Amino acid sequence: MANFRTHLTVAATADVIATAVVMQTLPISPMQGLLLFLLGLQAGLLPDIDSDHSIPARWLFTMLSIATAVAVVFQYHATLALFDLMLLALFAALLVRFALLPLFAATTEHRGLFHSLPMALLLGIITLHAGFALLDWQSGFAWLGAVFVSGGYLLHLLLDELYSVNFIGMSIKGSFGTALTLFSREAWFSYTLLYAAVGCGFWLAPPTLGFL
Ligand SMILES: [Zn+2]
Repeated sequence: MANFRTHLTVAATADVIATAVVMQTLPISPMQGLLLFLLGLQAGLLPDIDSDHSIPARWLFTMLSIATAVAVVFQYHATLALFDLMLLALFAALLVRFALLPLFAATTEHRGLFHSLPMALLLGIITLHAGFALLDWQSGFAWLGAVFVSGGYLLHLLLDELYSVNFIGMSIKGSFGTALTLFSREAWFSYTLLYAAVGCGFWLAPPTLGFL
């Protein structure tokens, strides 16, 4: 399993490249570019929130809450007064740090549902719908947000899998196959629900075009 620093480095590097490519090829503003970068970075670190109590997990909680505060500032800087904006950012960060993430960590098993392909897709779909319906993103940008979230998340899972292969001896550790799970018979109900939610999300998704 890759450690926190490896995840951070790889996620940030891939994310900078992806953001640069998108900013050069699609009609998005620098603000939107930064928002995409933050989404991708958060998603690249997110899967390990299921490893409770470890120092990396606590670091991760803090980083995710800071990133949330920054995202709130960039999302609402034009519509809220400074004091309200700061208050909302602080509230969002505290909510993520002390309520949401610990709740997740307490209710999940390490390398369970959170290290699975359908979870990566579902979080992308949630980003798409939340961005489009709640945050008034144009549909094209909402899709981009979804791709950055699912992409960053999948990159994390792939990295975990790569680290379970010992390239020098070409042997495979016992953890192989536990990071990028497609389906698990023991947890069949949860997986079925996940895939059903992903299917519904795609079914109801807005069209991809819509930048201009
Ligand atoms: Zn992981």
